Amino acid sequence: TSQAETYEFQAESRQLLQLVVHSIYSNKDIFLRELISNASDALDKLRLESLRDSALEADTTDLHIALEPDPEQRTLTVRDNGIGMSRDEVVKLIGTIAKSGTAEFARKLKEARQAQDAEGSAALIGNFGVGFYSSFMVADKVTLVTRRAGETEGTRWESDGKGTYTLQTVADAPQGTSVTLHLKPEDTEDRLWDYTAEHRIRDIVRQHSDFIPWPVRLAKEGGTGEDGSGTERTTETINSMKALWARPQDDITEDEYKEFYKHVSHDWNDPLETIHTRAEGTFEYQALLFIPSRAPFDLFQQGARRGVNLYVKRVFIMDECESLLPDYLRFVKGVVDAQDLSLNVSRETLQQDRQIQLMHRRLVKKILSTVKSMRTKDAERYGTFWEQFGRAVKEGLLSDFENRETILDICSFASTHDDEQLTSLRDYKSRMKEGQEHIYYLTGESRARLENSPHMEAFRAKGLEVLLLTDPVDEVWVESVREFDGTPLQSIAKGQVDLDGEEDGKEGDAEREQQEKDYGPLLTWLAGTLSEDVKEARLSTRLTTSPACIVGDEHDVTPTLEKMYRAMGQ
Ligand code: ADP
Ligand code: MG
Repeated sequence: TSQAETYEFQAESRQLLQLVVHSIYSNKDIFLRELISNASDALDKLRLESLRDSALEADTTDLHIALEPDPEQRTLTVRDNGIGMSRDEVVKLIGTIAKSGTAEFARKLKEARQAQDAEGSAALIGNFGVGFYSSFMVADKVTLVTRRAGETEGTRWESDGKGTYTLQTVADAPQGTSVTLHLKPEDTEDRLWDYTAEHRIRDIVRQHSDFIPWPVRLAKEGGTGEDGSGTERTTETINSMKALWARPQDDITEDEYKEFYKHVSHDWNDPLETIHTRAEGTFEYQALLFIPSRAPFDLFQQGARRGVNLYVKRVFIMDECESLLPDYLRFVKGVVDAQDLSLNVSRETLQQDRQIQLMHRRLVKKILSTVKSMRTKDAERYGTFWEQFGRAVKEGLLSDFENRETILDICSFASTHDDEQLTSLRDYKSRMKEGQEHIYYLTGESRARLENSPHMEAFRAKGLEVLLLTDPVDEVWVESVREFDGTPLQSIAKGQVDLDGEEDGKEGDAEREQQEKDYGPLLTWLAGTLSEDVKEARLSTRLTTSPACIVGDEHDVTPTLEKMYRAMGQ
């Protein structure tokens, strides 16, 4: 055993630790769920690694999680005999928060705290998933001892969660990881906070971790012996270990689904929607998927964490399985358990796998149809969905041709019809004027800007509804989606918009001819003078109060898109 060396937490980790410790006022119990969840992941990884690598020198005979409370020392130890961590891994995984968006997260959390918004900060933390660091909500010192399977030396990590941690090499560490919490003294005051009490631990595990697929064993003082002294330690498995997704839906309670969601998603909030589905027959699988109630911070960042874990016949194969769902549904969390895949699949071979492709297709359809029915059955919940994930979903309009119509059907857009309420395309169509043949839209940076656009004048005057598209992705999909349900989409800023054609244009024609004559010389002069900047100058029927506006050609890129391309360096 070497000398302990002291290291400093990375600045962001330190900041986060402080915020976490001081932000969570209720439900500290979940620290235990986080530690059990990590232990369970470590056992999953060891089983898989030993299946794939027969040379790995690891003991897989009795994989389990042990909870060892010590009321006298006021400690609680969570131990697993899973994969463990090397010294480098400890530094990387425990000493650092290497997640993208950490700085942004810390900033928002600080804001919520300054506004004394306890609920808001708890939701933020849950959304980020601080995992291991939640230990410091209940402990003023945490000791982690770990040895990676196949390695001989172990590592001891210890910290008070303030600024520094120590590392030490240990010669005799058992395989796997133990985390010992030195519980905060104030917790003794309140019986509910006594995390060394058997019934407390039992309750928390039953509530939060019952479905963990490995035995969670509670170490207990054995009953008093004959002579009144005997305190032999015994253990008892306190979780049911049932894989939730394999159980019949009718047997599963709402709470069980919620807890399972929190386990797989690393989210502390409840899910917005649960999708439990299975396929039987030639190709069998079970899927338990969830739509979160909040978008993660990194939804639009490169390398954002993906949410679906792949199992084969209950054996964990990989997390963040990107082959199961398309990019635009990257926010969906959960597990998919396939019966007929090989345990040796890799990320690379998965993409080519026909069964995976089949599952992919069915799962996408299932998710989209779930959102579609959410829209009709529960408008408020759908509203949350759209607010959080709409921007991502619209990316699907560009990549998923097969489901384009369904995606359009679950989209919502701002419109001149209502100042606040968004509209579906279907509702837009139901409001179309007699003779109106297009779904009109205008893209740009903000609603205010679009409303003040000169392009809007004639449409407003004629009472024609216009969709106001302000997301950057809108600029892109409108270029490739030409119609919805047989009705073409038309930008009001592009090409010739034949507004008169939309009503009776008879007397307009004569008037127009006269105007063309009157203004002919002016137009020629304008076109000549501005020839550097415009292609042509023409009379317009789209303006009512502004004297002039600039319109794009049918196939020109819009100003916003031009800006986007420029920003991307193209
Ligand atoms: P998350 O579980 O969301 O990744 P955590 O903060 O809970 O975040 O854990 C960080 C990382 O530390 C884990 O991803 C894992 O690699 C490692 N880790 C934590 N606990 C254990 C454990 N008991 N055994 C092995 N590795 C662990
Ligand atoms: Mg974790």
